[in-house]
Amino acid sequence: MALDRLDQFLPKGGRLYAAERNTDPGPDLPGAVSRLSPYLRHRLINKQEVIEQVVARHNMGSAEKFIQEVLWRTYWKGWLEMRPSVWRRFLEELDRQHDAFHDDRAIADAMNGQTGIEGFDDWARELVETGYLHNHARMWFASIWIFTLRLPWTLGADFFLRHLLDADAASNTLSWRWVAGLQTVGKTYLATSDNIARYTNGRFAPKGLAREAVALTEAPIEPARQLGEPPRLNPEQPSILLVTHEDLHPESVFDGAYAFRSIAVASDALLLWGDCSRHFVAAASTDTALRTAAHYGCPANIIDRLDAEALIKEAKAVGVRRIMTPYAPAGPVADHLARIAPMLASEGIDLSLVRRDWDSAFWPHAKKGFFTFKEHIPALLRMRGLT
Ligand SMILES: Cc1cc2nc3c(=O)[nH]c(=O)nc-3n(C[C@H](O)[C@H](O)[C@H](O)COP(=O)(O)OP(=O)(O)OC[C@H]3O[C@@H](n4cnc5c(N)ncnc54)[C@H](O)[C@@H]3O)c2cc1C
Repeated sequence: MALDRLDQFLPKGGRLYAAERNTDPGPDLPGAVSRLSPYLRHRLINKQEVIEQVVARHNMGSAEKFIQEVLWRTYWKGWLEMRPSVWRRFLEELDRQHDAFHDDRAIADAMNGQTGIEGFDDWARELVETGYLHNHARMWFASIWIFTLRLPWTLGADFFLRHLLDADAASNTLSWRWVAGLQTVGKTYLATSDNIARYTNGRFAPKGLAREAVALTEAPIEPARQLGEPPRLNPEQPSILLVTHEDLHPESVFDGAYAFRSIAVASDALLLWGDCSRHFVAAASTDTALRTAAHYGCPANIIDRLDAEALIKEAKAVGVRRIMTPYAPAGPVADHLARIAPMLASEGIDLSLVRRDWDSAFWPHAKKGFFTFKEHIPALLRMRGLT
């Protein structure tokens, strides 16, 4: 499915993408964008493979814009990974706003597409019905939510997380923060009627939008932390392979001869926000279990609840003291693994999170803004054989 989608997109990945990617022609028309995000987000397809194919079809120059967009995801992940307190702050603020706005009419109208604002109401419905919004529509929607409707950004971000098929802690939280003027401090994104009319091919020209976007403010955030060194692991030590929805392609993380005795694929619904992404992950987990069982030659089971007891029981049953899993970046899975790791340790079981080489290479450069990060892209791609 991911590869079919990539195949369909390949002819557009060069100059057409660069010229047309900002236009949102509407849910029923093919645009210039790839719609690869749910597959990239859950790492069912990897960024290097996608970039390689687009470059092979076009060339590095024509594919530059697409490559940069793909690397925005890597950048956001690396940025949040070095500042996990921003994720925690989002969750705390969300809790507070949930309490404060739990039966608020304006929030309900915004989520039900009943504000009377052209475009905005259509995007609210499109999001709920399809699980997708074009990037530009996400920007317009977030801007109108924050600056025209003056609603708390965290509740808008939560609405996205509950309905997007590609719902992602880093890309979503940091994009909403960016629109609000919290991410690049003081720099906001203001949606205007002219811009919306132009990039929706005249479908919408909403009236009464905010004329200015005054940046939100917050207490200073913690300085970026250093990323830890990847652990040195002995592949011959018998282990369980744990697969979570953060990375559903462990074969490209553990690509040597690993001594896995069994595989646990956790499709834990509690670690996802909405039914849309739950269905996607449930189907992808079934495929992943079949694929990885064949790849590593050991049994793979789907576990509905990622709890310490189930893992301890399995570790004892197959006689191992180590569970290996592809790295879970800042988000609900990482939070959950941090909670269960001490319980596993108390039974003498080590939980090892293994980061992808891609992330180890790119994330350290996400300390500042994207423009600084972008300067490193050509050299980092060259080091990975992409010229
Ligand atoms: C307010 C807001 C919330 C967002 N929430 C999410 C989210 O929860 N999950 C998510 O995956 N993306 C999110 N994005 C980023 C972006 O909108 C989507 O990744 C993109 O629209 C996916 O569609 P596509 O695959 O057709 O993109 P394409 O234009 O085809 O881009 C190719 C790939 O590049 C990456 N990419 C492109 N633009 C961005 C971007 N701005 N930020 C990060 N990665 C990008 C994605 O992996 C995408 O699949 C959000 C953007 C905004 C403004």
